[in-house]
Amino acid sequence: MSSPSTRVVSKVPEVSSRLFERAGAAIPGGVNSPVRAFSAVGGTPRFMVSAQGPWLTDADGARYVDLVCSWGPMVLGHAHPAVVEAVQAAATHGLSFGAPTPGEVELAEEILGRVAPVEQVRLVNSGTEATMSAIRLARGITGRSVVVKFAGCYHGHVDALLAEAGSGVATFGLPTSPGVTGASAADTIVLPYNDIEAVRAVFAARGPEIACVITEAAAGNMGAVAPVPGFNAGLREITREHGAMLVMDEVMTGFRVSAAGWYGLDGVAGDLYTFGKVMSGGLPAAAFGGSREHMSYLAPAGPVYQAGTLSGNPVAVAAGLATLRAADASVYAALDANSRRLGGLIGDALTGAGVAHRVQYAGNLLSVFFTADEVVDYAGARAAETFRFPAFFHALLDRGVYAPPSAFEAWFVSAALDDDAFSVVADALPAAAAAAAAATPAS
Ligand code: PLP
Repeated sequence: MSSPSTRVVSKVPEVSSRLFERAGAAIPGGVNSPVRAFSAVGGTPRFMVSAQGPWLTDADGARYVDLVCSWGPMVLGHAHPAVVEAVQAAATHGLSFGAPTPGEVELAEEILGRVAPVEQVRLVNSGTEATMSAIRLARGITGRSVVVKFAGCYHGHVDALLAEAGSGVATFGLPTSPGVTGASAADTIVLPYNDIEAVRAVFAARGPEIACVITEAAAGNMGAVAPVPGFNAGLREITREHGAMLVMDEVMTGFRVSAAGWYGLDGVAGDLYTFGKVMSGGLPAAAFGGSREHMSYLAPAGPVYQAGTLSGNPVAVAAGLATLRAADASVYAALDANSRRLGGLIGDALTGAGVAHRVQYAGNLLSVFFTADEVVDYAGARAAETFRFPAFFHALLDRGVYAPPSAFEAWFVSAALDDDAFSVVADALPAAAAAAAAATPAS
């Protein structure tokens, strides 16, 4: 791993600026996923050209410690030799067959071996596809329409799940999205996260209509907000009592917060699970799964239709399998330790600068809220002093630290973060904390 002393940090990213201008002409907003545009923090998004271990390099040659990790997948760091080798080997054998492959079976078995409630999985291409398909399956199994979700939780850009969603929807302050029909919004009930009484009340009123409750197993898309003790268990109990399904969205937490995801930490079993990110190794792959009985409703075994030209793509499967196989106990120990080390540095710097803040964790996901109060739901996340975030973010970026460009996103560590990377973060933080302290609502 090269030393940070060779790092060039460009405050005026000339090449990225030119690329962003061209991109703006060819691609809506210049990006292929909204949060990448830096709209919430201002400035020019950095166009990345390469990555190695904990480092990203942009088109201007500036290097950054990566605390986004492609929004979660890169637990091992970038260009991990075992993953690169697996991808290269798979590619030489052909890119896509449109027929079953041995690798799909191995990846499915690897997932089943880690998450006990999951007896079968179907591979898809994105987390959005996984949640969309899980919802369809829950509706198909129960014969009911209504979906309960929580404000601030993001489950991809599925019509029925965009209402009061987290991630980019939160970043841009959207209540929902034009293009989502009234009918699909009407079948979605949005409740406050971590409020089990609200869930009880809605089931008392509309229980027989509710197909499922979908929740992030631990919320990461309004910042890191762990379920309060008893919340997930309460969801389990209420859904079971009313014959509804519990869909645990582990797209973000799965295979990251432990070998078995959030299920490995709290042991509360959902009926259906969604996975993505880490199990893809950074290529497009995701999955949804559940008991053999529930998954048998899926075509061709059963009547609920779901399909995909590139589902189970051999190169994506190879990347995911190599990543999961390399993610052993030492990797999870490193992720946990790196998360606490990063959170400690951030907390110390902000305390030093006199900025009210909470560094919150959901397993090894973390985020920074500019508030003195613990954040347990979306209202709390929105009440924080988010105006401090852009200054904090840019001071880090200018000093070689790539944090998520939104106050509502979790920060992701990799096991590849080393002392060199942490020294860059530690050097950058005092100035970033001072910038956050100096920020005003209008700045
Ligand atoms: N579910 C959760 C919890 C997520 O965090 C995301 C993406 O961030 C998704 C679903 C959607 O996944 P994708 O972006 O792969 O469609």
